[in-house]
Amino acid sequence: MNAPSSLDLFEGAIARLDKAFQFADIDAEALERLKHPKQILQVSVPVRMDDGSLRIFTGYRVRHDDTRGPTKGGLRYAPSVDISEVKALAFWMTFKCAVMNLPYGGAKGGICVNAKELSRLELERLSRGFIEQVADFIGPETDIPAPDMYTNAMIMGWMMDAYSKIRRQRTPAVITGKPIPLGGSQGREDATGRGAYHCMHEVAKRRDLVIRKTRVAIQGFGNAGQHIAQLLHADGYKIVGVSDSRGGIYKEDGFDIPSLIQIKNESNRLQAVYCTGSVCEAIEAEAITNEELLELDVDVLIPAALENQITIDNADRIKASVILEVANGPTTNEADEILNKKGKLIVPDILANAGGVTVSYFEWVQNQQGFYWSLEEVQKRLGEMMKREFNHIYECMIEMNIDMRTAAYAVALSRIGEAIASLGTAHYFSENDS
Ligand code: GLU
Repeated sequence: MNAPSSLDLFEGAIARLDKAFQFADIDAEALERLKHPKQILQVSVPVRMDDGSLRIFTGYRVRHDDTRGPTKGGLRYAPSVDISEVKALAFWMTFKCAVMNLPYGGAKGGICVNAKELSRLELERLSRGFIEQVADFIGPETDIPAPDMYTNAMIMGWMMDAYSKIRRQRTPAVITGKPIPLGGSQGREDATGRGAYHCMHEVAKRRDLVIRKTRVAIQGFGNAGQHIAQLLHADGYKIVGVSDSRGGIYKEDGFDIPSLIQIKNESNRLQAVYCTGSVCEAIEAEAITNEELLELDVDVLIPAALENQITIDNADRIKASVILEVANGPTTNEADEILNKKGKLIVPDILANAGGVTVSYFEWVQNQQGFYWSLEEVQKRLGEMMKREFNHIYECMIEMNIDMRTAAYAVALSRIGEAIASLGTAHYFSENDS
């Protein structure tokens, strides 16, 4: 997979607002506000490396909008992290939270680092060091981080511990996606994949898909990719193509996903914090590239890796009729247009991958209450919310005769617009009191 160019990622992200504006109930002034992130923090994190040397890592946290509540969003560790990427990801979080009707605004953060090159101790120092730098910026009622690419429950646990020490008060609600014994929620680990699975379930009902005949390709075999693969496979879908950062594999009659996951994880046994093995190593299948995977002759394509994977260069060759966006921002605006013209159904990222932040919300609620829910309770609530919001957006799409992404943005914009308008608009303030 090529690292995406994030130069214009934020500009591309906000361009989607203008298209949705005409279908949303929102003031033009309020729309303008959403084109500018509320706060941006850049930090330098000095880390003493195992060999005694000192390295300085650059980190960011962007709070995009907090009209609907404290800002919420993940932290990623990747060499691609830069300010434009973090701004775009924070922007998407605002819309994702509004699509799910969660009482949150959006934020995102990250550190520019190849985490796979760090030892566990270096990783812990980096994670705690980052929290020291951003402690005044985050908090249970202001901004609540969570896992994202190359960060996981253990890292969230270190961060919660670091924050609690600074505040001299145990503060589990400052971060979500924690290990369960440290205040994490049941069901958070597979929540992104499960949320996307609920969307797929609704698509299948709406489109009368015959599940056993439905062929699926998944780009990305990290947390979300593995979990959706597992859930779809258990339902009888044929997963014929899978890939990770090193390449992909194809099997005409479909993979046995549990053994694929076992093999991938066994080859990583030496590194419990990260998955580094490749799905290409141990399974008998045809090797394909990530580019070929996207263009496979399948019914459903699930991009679950990086941004900017479906672009003007390959959109014409995408054969799948349904694209379920588990990654954030996998489709560019130009590609969107091409795919929409061809009548493809794109279930947009801000809905398809919203299961993660939804269970993060449940985790935060449980932390605030000190009362913890069963796995059944979490999964039941997640299923209900995904189903409700999916169908609401799908109905808007039909009613307004627009694509599903524009419908999702329109729904989110109207909800954000309503919150902004509750504090008064130009129209309200210019009206005469008498
Ligand atoms: N990083 C995830 C996302 O992009 C989860 C965010 C959260 O749980 O706050 O949605």
